[in-house]
Amino acid sequence: MQGDFEAHRKAFEELGAEATEVRTAAQLSAVDGLVIPGGESTTMLELLRIESMMEPLREFGSRKPVFGTCAGAILLASEVSAPAQESLGLLDIAVERNAYGRQVRSHVTRIAFEGGELEAVFIRAPIIRRVGPGARVLAAYAGDPVLVEQGRHMVATFHPELTADRRVQNLFLEKVRG
Ligand code: GLN
Repeated sequence: MQGDFEAHRKAFEELGAEATEVRTAAQLSAVDGLVIPGGESTTMLELLRIESMMEPLREFGSRKPVFGTCAGAILLASEVSAPAQESLGLLDIAVERNAYGRQVRSHVTRIAFEGGELEAVFIRAPIIRRVGPGARVLAAYAGDPVLVEQGRHMVATFHPELTADRRVQNLFLEKVRG
């Protein structure tokens, strides 16, 4: 509905996956996994409400994998602050919006990942303040979780679609294939 869905589509196509854009509840029945991209979560939430997509998304998430990046991670969380807003609650995490400060504090950095490093782009990113017992931290930056999975779902507070490395997308594809 909003955000950098085009970059996500290209990244998954590079990996041989078939990617399609989803804007209605009916289109959900055609996909095996869903990426909710970065953007502005308040705007996305507004559009999801207008399209009556909140319940269909929760229902989809009860059966199929969902990957949320940045604003998408905010939408997937169980608790949102700064300010508080409704979310889908597919992962038991609490997120604080815009927690790195203003736009000028957006940054590109290297984070530890899978025994090596991964370039991570943060754009007005949230910080994951709490990770529930059912969730697992896959990568952290400056002590805060930035890549988390819970069962079939995954969230990243950075933008893996903006770098050439496809390991994060691969992790999600494994969930979709599973
Ligand atoms: N700041 C946005 C929000 O709070 C998220 C930014 C992003 O997705 N890059 O919704």
